Amino acid sequence: MHLEITSEIFQVGGSGYTAPEDAAIYLICFNEKSALVDAGCGNRLDRLYGNISECNINPETIEYLLITHCHYDHTGGAANVCKDLSCKTVAHKLDAQYLEKGNNTVTAADWYGSSIKPFTVDQKISNKQTDILLGDRKITAIHTPGHSPGSLVFLTESDGKKVLFGQDVHGPLAPGLKSNRKDYIASLEKMISLDADILCEGHFGIYTGKNKIRKFIKSFL
Ligand SMILES: [Zn+2]
Ligand SMILES: [Zn+2]
Repeated sequence: MHLEITSEIFQVGGSGYTAPEDAAIYLICFNEKSALVDAGCGNRLDRLYGNISECNINPETIEYLLITHCHYDHTGGAANVCKDLSCKTVAHKLDAQYLEKGNNTVTAADWYGSSIKPFTVDQKISNKQTDILLGDRKITAIHTPGHSPGSLVFLTESDGKKVLFGQDVHGPLAPGLKSNRKDYIASLEKMISLDADILCEGHFGIYTGKNKIRKFIKSFL
């Protein structure tokens, strides 16, 4: 099962797509090049690969796994996805450390009664903003700390629309997750300023239209 968001962007994982415990997983296909945004908990990778194939993409051709943040519902499957697909992982350096060391508190794996399988993050983002090239198209990673120290959003353009992969826009904030309220508020303001046409959230689905997106993000301010 998959959902077409634009002619090049699909939802291929999440509750109702792969497993109820999974955060949303998105697939970006620019010409012959593809990337995944997040990996879910990893309990139903068979379904994930099946959903990617439905989009006429061979999962083994995926170049990047773009990680929005270190939490288990987004990264529990990352180690196996990288191994199965030999793709390059991208995450912010402030969250990468918890994935590489397998920290079950900060990644919230404890909340899921599980443990994070450590993996190497190939590209650690340390700037406020970094462009990632997928073929000749651009995906911009923007540091939006608060929910976690190294939260990223990814911004790209498809079918003439600005698409924002915001994932856990809604939070929550918790000391064990090393959340920071001041940073979170600033990041929400930053996301509003990006003026996206489509917002792909981690748990709340897809929002279309600048006003609807602004209203949704503002509801957490
Ligand atoms: Zn989440
Ligand atoms: Zn989260």
